[in-house]
Amino acid sequence: MPPPIAKPSDADNTTKSGVSFTIKGAAGKAEAAVAATKSSKSSDPPPPRMVKELVIRRRMKHRPEVLPEHVMSESVYYRKTGNESVVGSGTYGKVYKAIHVYTRNEVALKKIRMEGEKDGFPVTAIREIKLLQSLNHVNVVALQEVMVESNDCYMIFEYLQHDLTGLLNHPTFALSSAHKKHLARQLFEGLDYLHRRGVLHRDIKAANILVSKTGQLKLADFGLARFYNKNRKVDYTNRVITIWYRSPELLLGETQYGPSVDIWSAACVMVEIFTRHAIFPGDGGEINQLDKIYNVLGTPSRSTWPGMTDLQWYELLRPAFKVPNSFADKYRDKVTSAAFELLEAMFAYDPDSRPTAGDVLEHPYFTTEEPAAKQVFELEGLEGDWHEFESKALRKERDREERKRREKEKEKTQGSETIGEKRPADMVAGKVDERGSKRAKTADMQG
Ligand code: ADP
Repeated sequence: MPPPIAKPSDADNTTKSGVSFTIKGAAGKAEAAVAATKSSKSSDPPPPRMVKELVIRRRMKHRPEVLPEHVMSESVYYRKTGNESVVGSGTYGKVYKAIHVYTRNEVALKKIRMEGEKDGFPVTAIREIKLLQSLNHVNVVALQEVMVESNDCYMIFEYLQHDLTGLLNHPTFALSSAHKKHLARQLFEGLDYLHRRGVLHRDIKAANILVSKTGQLKLADFGLARFYNKNRKVDYTNRVITIWYRSPELLLGETQYGPSVDIWSAACVMVEIFTRHAIFPGDGGEINQLDKIYNVLGTPSRSTWPGMTDLQWYELLRPAFKVPNSFADKYRDKVTSAAFELLEAMFAYDPDSRPTAGDVLEHPYFTTEEPAAKQVFELEGLEGDWHEFESKALRKERDREERKRREKEKEKTQGSETIGEKRPADMVAGKVDERGSKRAKTADMQG
């Protein structure tokens, strides 16, 4: 509660650092004294002495209200017990949804995994925290604080209800062309900010892109991010970026790279926004991943990628045969014409030919092509929170149900086959059924 504002009637109060002095009844007594002076001679009794009384008024301190369900919370960040509050599970550990018991703001608690750390606090977490503390942009997730509690360490982030993987796997929710454009624009605005500040994200993928319930997009997971040298070529590790989103030069061993590796990943995400499917879903190995890329974009040539032959693993991973480019056949009718042109530019084999995030934002896809971008406010009506974690759980549940359904069907057909095979002599009540079910069981045990 804010301190009371002084009103004219409080004029006789002198406030000093929360303690008020009141000259009680002073005004009335003084008036009486003046009147008495006017009507009397010097022999009259002296006017009454004024007495100062000290009145201490304490300013009431605001007492935040805590909801009954949060009263027992041991932490200032209340979270449901067990796995109920888990919204993500990554390299570091789990990410929990929690609520600040006083402000009631929702937050994401990212637990920093300390197991197996011999040298104290993990250096990767320190790097992530330092980097996040230097960033401030609407399209970059905000790190609010770092908390140590019961021997565990957490990064506290603003909470966003969805991530792109969760949203794109939603069973019913569909994005319009204008919505897709707005999400894509925010993705490149976030990247443009990072690259201008000299930061490479190095793990752009759908699960690391958060979306609020009002359609605001924020880049998250800076665990692999680092500052890069804009003026000098420096060696970095090429074992970065989740492999499906990894650019061909990294797959071929490049260690002197720049923002163009994020542009490749962002182009993969943009395709996913349009089609709901990853464009290069490899099996986890470098050779297979390059094959996936070649099968869509064709094998690279010296003319399209002059620096290719200098790459460390070029000879080792050289394609055995030429594959033509089938990108147009596969994607021209899945995206708008300007989006197709933009994607083609971002999927350039030569990293130096790829547009910067700033160039991307100037492309006609964002500036002139209809429809114009529109924020996905409709997400507010979506029930539940949709992250990769929930969609994985849903997929598992669906797979389980599908397996059950198939098993039941199999049992049914096996049962009817047995009946179909029956000879009239077997049609004695009880006998056939027993044998039929025994067969089904044996088949189950074998298969
Ligand atoms: P890791 O680095 O361990 O992979 P991430 O930062 O990628 O962890 O988080 C894992 C998942 O947790 C994300 O894919 C996302 O679904 C969820 N998540 C992360 N941060 C937030 C957040 N601020 N709000 C809501 N969910 C989040």
